[in-house]
Amino acid sequence: MKLSDFLGNNLIKERILKTVKDDRATHAYLFTGAFGAGKFTLCGIFAKALNCASPKNGEPCGVCHSCVLFEAGNHPDVFYAAPAKDRKTIGVSDIREQVAARIEEKPFNHRYKIFIIRNSDTMTLGAQNALLKMLEEPAEYAVFLLTAENPRKLLQTVLSRVISMPLMPLSAEVMKKYLKDAGLSSIETKNALFAGTIGKALALCGDTEFSDMREFCENLVKSGGITAAEGFSLAKRAEEFKTRANEMLDVLYILYARDIRDAVSRNVPVPLLVEKAQSVQKAQILLSQNANFAMVWDNLLITLIR
Ligand SMILES: [Zn+2]
Repeated sequence: MKLSDFLGNNLIKERILKTVKDDRATHAYLFTGAFGAGKFTLCGIFAKALNCASPKNGEPCGVCHSCVLFEAGNHPDVFYAAPAKDRKTIGVSDIREQVAARIEEKPFNHRYKIFIIRNSDTMTLGAQNALLKMLEEPAEYAVFLLTAENPRKLLQTVLSRVISMPLMPLSAEVMKKYLKDAGLSSIETKNALFAGTIGKALALCGDTEFSDMREFCENLVKSGGITAAEGFSLAKRAEEFKTRANEMLDVLYILYARDIRDAVSRNVPVPLLVEKAQSVQKAQILLSQNANFAMVWDNLLITLIR
């Protein structure tokens, strides 16, 4: 894949192109963004371009020895660190074995020795400190490319030594066009509008439970001013989607935000819609603090069906 094929995020793409064109990589970059945003994909393109023998305007050429080795997955100067099998975290031994043990030796045959640390926010404290030592006194040829969904899990001392590359969600229009071009059905295109990233959109393809939940939310948002009995049956229905409560609240929030935007553009006052959107946000916070779903949901519904 080339940078020009990567959707959206133009600022970050330009930054990568310029870095490669100027041949001025710094020692560490952190790609952040939601699941499926393309963090790892961008790291790959960046790594490939940095060691490419003849990049074209900052893009990897795709045909030189280095590019071919990278594509084949056996580039001698690109290394990956990830959690060991059956583990969810990157431990200190992973960083020692996969990074520290390899960093002393100069690059085999290329400009940079590149270490890609995927899901770096799963690094234990020990692992982060081991990495920090290398970030503090980096080998002149070393480049670290980190990805993280939740950079707040990284030590401030680590964050202060990396260049931040935050990937933004794609607009609904860009997503819609991509999925249509990919030949996906209109149901999947509808789901994708709530995904924000291509990876998540593709994960939602064929996810009928998500489609049901999305429809439920759409009906709920339309259902202002219903009776208590109707509200009760809606509350019961939500139980079906209990295991996906966070996604359900995300969908509701996006729907209210969309309605607020539409109303504002027509100069219609929206105090009730704003109140509903805020109560969804409040519910999101409560759930993140492990509050009981049924209780949070019942309270939320009282506001939403007004
Ligand atoms: Zn090349």
